[in-house]
Amino acid sequence: MPFLNGFELDRIYKKAKREGYGFMASNFVEPNVLIGLLEASDNKKSDLVLQLSTGACKFAGGGDIITGLRTMSKYIEILAKKYDIGVFLNLDHWKKKDLELIKIAVKEKLASSIMIDASLEAFDENVRITHEVVKMAREKGILIEGELGKIKGVEDEETASDEAFYTDPGESVEFVEKTGIDLLAISIGTQHGVSKGRNIELRTDLAQKINDALIDANKEVPLVLHGSSGLLENQIKEILKYGICKLNKDTRYQYEYARTALDFYIEHKYSILPPEGVPDDRDGFFSESEWSPSKADFDPRSVSKLIREQIKKTAEKLIAQACSDGKSLYVQ
Ligand SMILES: [Zn+2]
Repeated sequence: MPFLNGFELDRIYKKAKREGYGFMASNFVEPNVLIGLLEASDNKKSDLVLQLSTGACKFAGGGDIITGLRTMSKYIEILAKKYDIGVFLNLDHWKKKDLELIKIAVKEKLASSIMIDASLEAFDENVRITHEVVKMAREKGILIEGELGKIKGVEDEETASDEAFYTDPGESVEFVEKTGIDLLAISIGTQHGVSKGRNIELRTDLAQKINDALIDANKEVPLVLHGSSGLLENQIKEILKYGICKLNKDTRYQYEYARTALDFYIEHKYSILPPEGVPDDRDGFFSESEWSPSKADFDPRSVSKLIREQIKKTAEKLIAQACSDGKSLYVQ
């Protein structure tokens, strides 16, 4: 299935909200994680929401955000054709300073949805910026996610907020009404980065109040939970009941990536690193010694295959937790 637009993504979220399941919206920065996620979603017959932060685009674009976004968007578009599921791309935490880049992304339809994060601004300014992006994106059919409240922790290498500010249900209604957003990210106690579900005071009561307030005001939108890498399975099950249809995951994949690579390189240490007694003649590529490094182990594809497999296994479990398995709109 080709990489799909916001109109299709809207159908996906609305069905999820009606039926009480969600999507793990998964950040990636390079092909191993991307392919692991595609394989897992295809296997589990779940549609896939991918995410790119500005930092990830900058990394992929050799230091240039828009080059990275154009490259990754095209890469996903072509690669997605290999799979039967629906594949979507969200731009994660794009900010006020990125408005000119958002304009390009909208004009060239490089994403299915965009999160404009102006949550650090005062309420009125958050409304103004978010609404501006909604107006810009609407005619191209790109969905817009806004954020109200502040989520504690480190997001995309920057500390976004030292403290959590919980989202207010009444303000949520006003925010959705005034901005016209399609998805609302709320702060109910999760944290960006490494966190432990058992230490989090997850305010599920607040998620319920926000969802109810929006429904009562006839402003119902799917809710988004950021910083959900540390959540326990039972916490995920519970929040799905309160209209949260998108759960952002990034940190967990990063750990699986590093851990898989580390385990592999520890196991194959001496087929890459000269053993004791062999001079470390890296510049001469060991031409003077009997020992040679093993190409089978240092070929990047060797570790990459394992990383893809591990991301696939991890993502399959997470898809099952979000209950989106078997729910693809495009595969029966
Ligand atoms: Zn986030």
